[in-house]
Amino acid sequence: MRIFVTGGAGFIGSALVRLLIDRTGHEVLNFDKLTYAGTLSTVERVAVSDRYRFVRGDICDAEAVRAAITGFRPDVITHLAAESHVDRSIDGPGAFIQTNVVGTFTMLSEARSFWQSLDEDARKAFRFHHISTDEVYGSLGDTGLFTEDTPYDPRSPYSASKAGSDHLVSAWGHTYGLPVLITNCSNNYGPFHFPEKLIPLVIVKALAGDTLPIYGKGDQVRDWLFVEDHVRALQAVFERGVIGRTYNVGGNNEKQNIEVVQTVCTILDRLRPRADRQSYATQIGYVADRPGHDKRYAIDASRIRDELGWEPAETFESGIEKTVRWYLDNESWWRDIVAERQADQRRGLAA
Ligand code: NAD
Repeated sequence: MRIFVTGGAGFIGSALVRLLIDRTGHEVLNFDKLTYAGTLSTVERVAVSDRYRFVRGDICDAEAVRAAITGFRPDVITHLAAESHVDRSIDGPGAFIQTNVVGTFTMLSEARSFWQSLDEDARKAFRFHHISTDEVYGSLGDTGLFTEDTPYDPRSPYSASKAGSDHLVSAWGHTYGLPVLITNCSNNYGPFHFPEKLIPLVIVKALAGDTLPIYGKGDQVRDWLFVEDHVRALQAVFERGVIGRTYNVGGNNEKQNIEVVQTVCTILDRLRPRADRQSYATQIGYVADRPGHDKRYAIDASRIRDELGWEPAETFESGIEKTVRWYLDNESWWRDIVAERQADQRRGLAA
């Protein structure tokens, strides 16, 4: 198949591109604006493949999207391009509305025009797959899980913009018959994660001897999924998922933020002990909480397991070990990014 991936230079998109080139015979077009969060170094290893091509473009630019789609003639569009950092959405929500809502509208409009131009068999086979987050469901108390039927209740500008884009995708399915799929996934972690996000940020700051900033009391709970498990789920959904259906994707790995940070410190203590033999955990410091910080997210992923046979291969323990090792082995990748893009700055205090 020909797979059009938006956001393929970012964290999850690049993992999908690497999976598709390494493990399938699919052709890939990576359409990415290369914002602060995107870098082609994430796909450098597979970019030599003759099944891979790259177009630099903005999903809000209808003409650029149209030219790329009609030139490539995809069987599947997997739409990952987005502004993705909650803290940045607090400081500058406009970019999130533009990219996540208007950009998704543009992708849907151009996908629909292309889809309508296809013959009947190709129209039946076509898929528009939107990659979204569990944050659209809001915040849970101490118990319960998000299912695909949980009502939407987004709380941050980021999650509201993703909820808006999910609704647009559903509407294009219902109203125009566009063959759409949506996946809502929990927190990802793994290689090439932009170092403003919790896990890579903690690794980077630990090695720099800086304070490891814990928002509030660090008792917020997230479900964590290794990125390579997520992209296998995406492949299962666009290859075999039922048109119009939503699939929740999660790792069954609920952890408080403070537990995640302590785990990273323990692994670093073993793999790269501090010169003074103190634990990296002594660098933990509590800072002002994120405004409107959601308390708990947790996913019921039984639909994708029962219907499509997908299960995560990594436990949190195995995935976090791989991740810390990857950051230790790939310092040049993140050191340049931290220096050039101020990835380690605190944002989102709504000051
Ligand atoms: P990321 O920020 O690492 O990457 C986003 C990519 O999109 C970058 O390469 C960037 O250059 C590109 N991009 C941004 N704006 C663009 C535009 N206007 N036009 C074209 N390209 C543009 O994000 P990520 O963590 O890889 O997330 C990918 C998708 O998965 C997002 O839609 C996000 O909402 C969703 N998601 C992420 C997580 C997570 O834990 N990271 C969890 C669930 C869902």
